[in-house]
Amino acid sequence: MNGAQSIWIKDPLAIFADGAERGIVVRQGRIVELVPAGVAATTADAVFDASGHVVLPGLINTHHHFYQTLTRALPAAMDRELFPWLQALYPVWARLTPEALDLAVTVAMAELLLSGCTTTTDHHYVFPPGLEDAVDIEVAAARRLGLRVLLTRGSMNLSQRDGGLPPDSVVQDEDAILADSERVVARHHQRGEDALVQVALAPCSPFSVTSSLMRSTAALAERLDVRLHTHLAETEDENLFCEEKYGCRPLDYLEQCGWLGQRTWLAHGIFFNPREMQRLAKAKTSISHCACSNQILASGCCPVCEMEEAGVGIGLGVDGSSSNDESNLMQEVRAAFLLQRARYGVSKVSHRDALRWATKGSAACVGRPELGEIAAGKAADLALFKLDELRFSGAGDPLAALVLCGAHRADRVMVGGNWVVEGGAIPGLDVADLIRRHSAAAKRMQAG
Ligand code: ZN
Repeated sequence: MNGAQSIWIKDPLAIFADGAERGIVVRQGRIVELVPAGVAATTADAVFDASGHVVLPGLINTHHHFYQTLTRALPAAMDRELFPWLQALYPVWARLTPEALDLAVTVAMAELLLSGCTTTTDHHYVFPPGLEDAVDIEVAAARRLGLRVLLTRGSMNLSQRDGGLPPDSVVQDEDAILADSERVVARHHQRGEDALVQVALAPCSPFSVTSSLMRSTAALAERLDVRLHTHLAETEDENLFCEEKYGCRPLDYLEQCGWLGQRTWLAHGIFFNPREMQRLAKAKTSISHCACSNQILASGCCPVCEMEEAGVGIGLGVDGSSSNDESNLMQEVRAAFLLQRARYGVSKVSHRDALRWATKGSAACVGRPELGEIAAGKAADLALFKLDELRFSGAGDPLAALVLCGAHRADRVMVGGNWVVEGGAIPGLDVADLIRRHSAAAKRMQAG
């Protein structure tokens, strides 16, 4: 199909949209028509028979660290909470090379695509000598695979020497960070609703970045008009760190650094109190909820319903592959559904809520209201799931079945009107060869 032609994705088994019972029409990368029950599409050059598919807006991943696919299920870091977990991993991550990063990024993006993800962020904050082109490597991989991305130029400049958590081997100085941030935005950041590659700025956390870098990064993001991202309110240890070093809570610190605003989305947000939730809502700062990661590191449970009631936007993130060792966003939807339902009860959290967080909610986190929803004028980013596996056999409600029966693999994925997954595979990607090369790189890095 060429982009100028319209295609009717016809008669889906179910669709996560109202008034589209007979499907949708896609043209030039956009959804141009929703087809309600009892009528036919007004125009369609071609038809895709979706009668065996459940159709979702493409899922959007709002937090990840792709390079961590090289340190999954690593015995030295297992069964630890965040700070000791990081301290076990920093020296291993310091050995990251361009070749290994390229493989790690390809693995993470492929996993995401196959799980129904159409837009992902990545938070890359490890820049050992020789890896200055990390963001460029990620952009090249995204273009190869056809995934829409918001890559964040991360940073760390507060090492143990200055009272931070990471060792000297993984930090950079502030001038080098700001210069490279400006370079990657100028080189790669696309503007407008059809953007496939965007860049944001992302100092890592209060315990690995100086307040000077936090402030200068906020000023740079303002000047370049790009988004801001960091980890915040993830653990009690972080609360203690902020109180001891800065004499305030993490959100106060964030505000002092000029970060509390619409441009910012935060990973985790577990430890905000009700007054802080009001401040986040007023500032339109949104939260990336990472249910699997929070459970694996036993960090706590993000108060998603209280935040939504306060007016805070919620998206979902799989987080890095050392704290949630897989990169499957559809499984993250189920994890968030289960965790939040256990916390708030059956009347407060449904499968539809979890799907909404991963689509429209995540779109708001990444500042892309044209994504994450099946509606006329929105981007043609779609995930189509078949219910032909054992796990779905006998299911009553096809949409609920995706979450309740544990869907984990999309049959087809469309980004900007182009099919990037077909028949549960990424055209042109030799997965067996990728696993072989990525596993070898991981082994080398872990061995040191
Ligand atoms: Zn993270």
